[in-house]
Amino acid sequence: MRPFIYRLAVARGLAGTVANSARGVVAEVEGGAGTIDEFERDLTLSPPPLARIDSVTREAAVPTGARGFCIVPSLDGAAESTLICPDAAVCDDCLSEFLDPADRRHLYPFINCTNCGPRFSIIEGTPYDRPRTSMRAFTMCPVCRAEYDDPLDRRFHAQPNACPVCGPRLELVCPDDAGTAPGNGGDAADRTRALLKAGRIVAVKGLGGFHIAADAANDAAVRALRERKRRPAKPFALMCRSLDVVREIADVSAEEERLLKGASAPVVLLKKRRDPVRAISPDVAPRNAYLGVMLPHAPLHHLLFDDDLAVLVMTSGNAPGEPIVAELGEAREKLAGVADAFLAHDRGIVNRNDDSVVCVEGGRTLMARRSRGFAPYPVDLECGVEGAPGVLACGTELKCTFTVLEAGRAYASQHVGDMENRATLEFYEEAVEKFLAWFHARPEVVAHDLHPDYLATRFAKAFAADRGAALEGVQHHHAHIASVMAENGTTGSVVGLALDGTGYGADGSIWGCEFLVADLAGFERAGHLANVPLPGGDAAVRRPYRVALSHLYAAGGDPLVEESLPLFRGVPPAELDLVRQMIAKRVNCVDTSSAGRLFDAASALLGVCGEVTYDAQAAIELESLVDAGVSRAYPYGMRADGGMLVVDPAPIVRALAADAVAGVPAGECAAAFHNAVVSFSREAAGRIARERGIGTVALSGGVFQNRFLLRSLVRALESDGLRVLLNREVPANDGGVSLGQAAVAAWRRIHGGA
Ligand SMILES: [Zn+2]
Ligand SMILES: [Zn+2]
Repeated sequence: MRPFIYRLAVARGLAGTVANSARGVVAEVEGGAGTIDEFERDLTLSPPPLARIDSVTREAAVPTGARGFCIVPSLDGAAESTLICPDAAVCDDCLSEFLDPADRRHLYPFINCTNCGPRFSIIEGTPYDRPRTSMRAFTMCPVCRAEYDDPLDRRFHAQPNACPVCGPRLELVCPDDAGTAPGNGGDAADRTRALLKAGRIVAVKGLGGFHIAADAANDAAVRALRERKRRPAKPFALMCRSLDVVREIADVSAEEERLLKGASAPVVLLKKRRDPVRAISPDVAPRNAYLGVMLPHAPLHHLLFDDDLAVLVMTSGNAPGEPIVAELGEAREKLAGVADAFLAHDRGIVNRNDDSVVCVEGGRTLMARRSRGFAPYPVDLECGVEGAPGVLACGTELKCTFTVLEAGRAYASQHVGDMENRATLEFYEEAVEKFLAWFHARPEVVAHDLHPDYLATRFAKAFAADRGAALEGVQHHHAHIASVMAENGTTGSVVGLALDGTGYGADGSIWGCEFLVADLAGFERAGHLANVPLPGGDAAVRRPYRVALSHLYAAGGDPLVEESLPLFRGVPPAELDLVRQMIAKRVNCVDTSSAGRLFDAASALLGVCGEVTYDAQAAIELESLVDAGVSRAYPYGMRADGGMLVVDPAPIVRALAADAVAGVPAGECAAAFHNAVVSFSREAAGRIARERGIGTVALSGGVFQNRFLLRSLVRALESDGLRVLLNREVPANDGGVSLGQAAVAAWRRIHGGA
């Protein structure tokens, strides 16, 4: 902000100073009243691309007769802004220099300015200054230094400022081929393109870590990548050369275009075009209605494309289940069996940061993963927790994030991943310590999930014991709903619909389709989907026929019908028998009310997905089949059980099985199933809202990443006169849980309740 204000003031001949303070930027300007009005108007009308103006306050001061304008040292000794900028995609000014053969940074892969480039990913400590970034390894040449020191230059105090003379360099490493080993600059990029065109797989170091790149038009390359990554079906993200290329493969709305081209440059989930005018491998996103697409965001990415190479698979470079890989040495070790070559550079990645994933539904931007380009900016909260003591909210197991709440600001972490192994836990522990240091946080309260065995829960308990902080357990689905309330600034009671895969219930069973009456202090379970036993726990998640069988039994299933269903045909009879016995005798079973498992069962009954190889695969493949023109819904049951509404899915399961046996088209069955879920959710929410006199419904949980379901349910609830709240900046999936935990813990500290 300071150089921007400096330029505004100098352009108008205003005198005075500008400085950082702990509360933001303070400018003292002296001049004619009209000129000062213009100055204030321009301040808010055309701030720099990465600036964030929360508010402007103006006070009159006595003129001092000062002349000239200057940037002065920070006020009140607070040199530090507590904000750390996210990484930003290369700006238009830098890109045109990059493309200009006469520019000294022509095709230089690390071009940046104050309006773009790496930030979070290179920061070691605060305040943000070059010696506390990985750029300290590079000494600016005199030309770069002059830019850096000139308040009128676009690179004034651009900490990663660099050029081909003094800055980072590219290096291509081909382990199998010593003859074509390392090289720099354009040469490395040229040879990378040649490798990709030849169907080879190249690990590419970007802003937040390595991507694994392959030519998306080359079937053999995409299949080879699937085999090597042991990833049979999970969709790969794509990077397209330009927006025009994106339009050749997907439908792009104005809002989606804005997101693709924005400084955050996330992966945007776009509807596949029915009539694509460019061929990409069907293995990129099999049995999926959407493509995850991003545009080049690091200048380096612009070197990966040409007229013959317009769409690349760009999937995260990580060992299975582990965090994204940041440096070449690690990449060569962990991606050795995946990549044929490594395009790396010597600008260190201090903070690993995976791609963010967003979609646009009903005009709203929904976050599926909040990471690169967004973290570690605080999430806006207006829910009455400003005066709370510091909170560390530790998150949950899958898609884990944590949130540090300090001085009323909620710093939600980047995506950490599934906390199921040592490598992910180490990344998590390291990131927690960094956040606490950067944001001067000393948590008095540590919030955690109720599941005793989650690594994040164990971490929370050890951390609290070690630092003398209090523990605050927050039920998983309450945290989901609280995240929506906190983001929308709602503190009264809501009806919360948490439709989810797995969450530890207050009664020790596995919850996942919950109708709560909730506020930030606590919740009451007002309704849920009827429990079914989950035979073999995790094995039932991987093999959805097991959940289907369990639902069939719960529905009084007819074994003859079952055996004629295609899903059981591939299962060895001995295994099928064993699973039947497990269900009948309730051996090795956990009870669950999970909505995610109901979707799995439906998907399996229709023969859509027999084996789940990535999270929510069965539900995603089922959604992609939905024939939106079908309005009928399968019937369901609903009973009030001692004040608790219980939704009985048995009629849905029976009707679905009968349709599957009768050969009704899968698209029609999928629609009737989705419509049934919408209907029972609408009825249950409506009944609870009327009984309790509540007008607001909050929706959260991973199942709401199902866009057909979300769209239909929001429409239905709104047509019933209810106000519907959704997550805004954090995901509805488990990535948003830590924010909800933080809000609940903070609220209880201030207002009581538990
Ligand atoms: Zn720039
Ligand atoms: Zn230089």
